[in-house]
Amino acid sequence: MTASNTAPDNGASGNDVTTASSVPTKAGGRGYSPEQRAGALIEALPYIKRFRGSVVVVKFGGNAMVNEDLSRTFAEDIVMLRSVGMKPVVVHGGGPQIGELLARLGKQSEFRDGLRVTDAETLDVARMVLVGKVGRDIIGEINVHGAYAVGMSGEDGGLIRAEITQPELGFVGEIVDVNPGIIERLLAEDLIPVVSSIGSDQKGQALNINADTVAGALGGALAAEKVIYLTDVPGLLADIDDPASVVIRTTIDELERAMADGTISGGMVPKVRSCIDAVQAGAASAHLLDGRVPHVLLLELFTDAGIGTMITAKPAQPATSATPTTSTASTAPNDHRQTGTSQ
Ligand code: ADP
Ligand code: MG
Repeated sequence: MTASNTAPDNGASGNDVTTASSVPTKAGGRGYSPEQRAGALIEALPYIKRFRGSVVVVKFGGNAMVNEDLSRTFAEDIVMLRSVGMKPVVVHGGGPQIGELLARLGKQSEFRDGLRVTDAETLDVARMVLVGKVGRDIIGEINVHGAYAVGMSGEDGGLIRAEITQPELGFVGEIVDVNPGIIERLLAEDLIPVVSSIGSDQKGQALNINADTVAGALGGALAAEKVIYLTDVPGLLADIDDPASVVIRTTIDELERAMADGTISGGMVPKVRSCIDAVQAGAASAHLLDGRVPHVLLLELFTDAGIGTMITAKPAQPATSATPTTSTASTAPNDHRQTGTSQ
């Protein structure tokens, strides 16, 4: 019953036997009182009840994906969602990993409007890295907890039909059709689909697709409760140079304006575009979250604290539409959550 039996996080002082028994605050709940621990669980209860049975599409990307600790906590979160009766679907990118292998092969990466220019060789590399490496790593992390995750490319089961619309980008596909049957069957079996962002055209030609776009299209096709993007910024920023300028809540109209005036650029363009597509197609809300925060998914889904940016088709309360909703992080966060199921 002493702290030393239950303090694995004290590894840095592993040889320091003289202090091992004098750190009771580290025992069990990592320094939290029994009341605080019980309080956190009770706080989660209404969210667990509300989200039971609902589909949540999560786009995993950014720095979180190349950090071992964050990959592990991400997998824990996904397994937690499944364990409380939700139906998580993971979509992943792999920009850094594709870029790294291309660099090793002596090839330069080139982007236009956040999309990778993809010649035949780059397509092969992207497909190998996404389907054969990044997807496998995520599945491995999840399946440490049980035989849950099943990997697939968007080519599998006709999931993502795409075509080239911007030939100057090479083998980059725009989604023309999503056939989510294969995903629905896996979800019905309580499995966790892990989808790599490759699609194919009618002739079977594989095409590289931005992973955000895939997540948005799947979120819409599955009428997801939420489509959640984990990225490497705290959310959508009103001023890209000010990390504190997080937009808590916004709508399609406001985002269209921000894209037109250049507030949104680079990789945020396809991300925001796919958020718009998802909520227009029937997802209840889309969220941009900071994937660098451990367990950010649990914080978003199961706590009262609003976190990141929430996007809905329309403002939550028409009565308040005269006031700006692109307020900064200092305003009441609870509003962020309570409106999550509005149209
Ligand atoms: P991911 O791997 O998550 O897809 P991206 O690099 O493609 O990451 O997209 C996120 C990036 O978008 C941010 O790191 C940031 O540099 C850029 N960005 C552009 N405009 C904005 C904005 N208004 N708010 C936040 N990030 C922005
Ligand atoms: Mg991106």
